[in-house]
Amino acid sequence: MDKQRDFVLRTIEERGVKFVRLWFTDVLGTLKSVAIAPAEVEGAFGEGIGFDGSAIEGLTRSYESDLLAFPDPSTFQILPWRGEVDPTARMFCDITTPDGQPASAEPRNVLKRTLAKAADAGFTFYTHPEIEFYLLKSSRFGAEGPEPVDRAGYFDNVPGGTAHDFRRRAVRMLEDLGISVEYSHHEVGPGQNEIDLRYADALTMADNIMTFRTVVKEVAIEQGVHATFMPKPLAGEPGSGMHTHMSLFEGDVNAFYEEGAQYQLSRTGRQFIAGLLKHANEIALVTNQFVNSYKRLWGGDEAPSYITWGHNNRSALIRVPLYKPGKGGSARVEYRAIDSAANPYLAYSLMLAAGLKGIEEEYELGPEAEDNVWALSSAERRALGYQSLPSSMYDAIKLMEDSELVAETLGEQIFSYVLANKRREYDAYRSQVTQYELKSTLDVI
Ligand code: GLN
Ligand code: MG
Ligand code: MG
Ligand code: MG
Repeated sequence: MDKQRDFVLRTIEERGVKFVRLWFTDVLGTLKSVAIAPAEVEGAFGEGIGFDGSAIEGLTRSYESDLLAFPDPSTFQILPWRGEVDPTARMFCDITTPDGQPASAEPRNVLKRTLAKAADAGFTFYTHPEIEFYLLKSSRFGAEGPEPVDRAGYFDNVPGGTAHDFRRRAVRMLEDLGISVEYSHHEVGPGQNEIDLRYADALTMADNIMTFRTVVKEVAIEQGVHATFMPKPLAGEPGSGMHTHMSLFEGDVNAFYEEGAQYQLSRTGRQFIAGLLKHANEIALVTNQFVNSYKRLWGGDEAPSYITWGHNNRSALIRVPLYKPGKGGSARVEYRAIDSAANPYLAYSLMLAAGLKGIEEEYELGPEAEDNVWALSSAERRALGYQSLPSSMYDAIKLMEDSELVAETLGEQIFSYVLANKRREYDAYRSQVTQYELKSTLDVI
């Protein structure tokens, strides 16, 4: 620990770093940043930096507003987009109350708590997200909606196109920040791109996702375009998911792997999937947190709408990807509901908690979905026992209200905050009279 602090202080000195940004995340997943002078860093490691938690979405109640931010030296990185002159660095923070307790309503603490629970059961949790987003010509839009930067599609190579340069620059910056990228490509939608991060433990990954979003926004500004992680920015085009591949390790051993089992998937792996399926509905308000999220889930184009699992079945909510026998390390399950606008700390906490519950309570995994779930009639789906994910934010609120698993994992404070915030959002949404209603109804009756 002290070695890491020394390393940070030495690097600041040697590289002539002029500003150090302290980062943390609010309950809705917005990145917060306070810049301190290099001379303050040593003190910040020891005593923390005080701030008013009540001014940050969901973090405290106003009568207990003082909080401290302690920078985590293992997350120190110089920000590549700030250039070589007067470099700026960042560290993610641990947030505590003045008496040194982890602030209970801070998303990074929630994930740490859940990871500690997994560790008690002997597991380390790894994730790898496929992050989709749109590049638009501008954040301004007219009656036709936003305008994507190109009309290209899946895996298209667009010579001289914005998307190519964009991905090259973004991937380079991510690598400079110590974030490894596995794949990057044009996605199905016009202007839609995907970048897949190499797997890491879930806390590092949640930090990486927050950094990723900032990098993507910075590169977009540099290139005169607008990047958005909105779940469904263009009606009639695919939404932006953040499919996440998950695995549990016991020491060096992948607990999801069993040579010779169906799909090489162990009993633990099956129980983990069963847990996710059983609780998918209750956690949706966090994995899919906006009114707009439900337009992605129900808008087709490979977003899941039904609670099923399958082997290489892209209409299923959970997919068990194919891997070669003997390649046990890469055994994993892919959760496809979560979208690119989720708070990664909270969403990963709930996905892990749901899976662990399945293991703890030894849930049975039902049969896999072998067919295209969207192509079935509702009677066929009923006969097969396939339930649907919440069809709107309203349903998701109702489902989360009754969830013990979510209340327990997030803690009472975040749980109530999320529900109150989402009820407000839904009320604001349903009080709108939309273009669609005017066009379809005004003249008709
Ligand atoms: N865009 C799709 C989604 O929202 C995923 C498409 C894909 O990567 N297969 O989930
Ligand atoms: Mg992909
Ligand atoms: Mg994709
Ligand atoms: Mg995928």
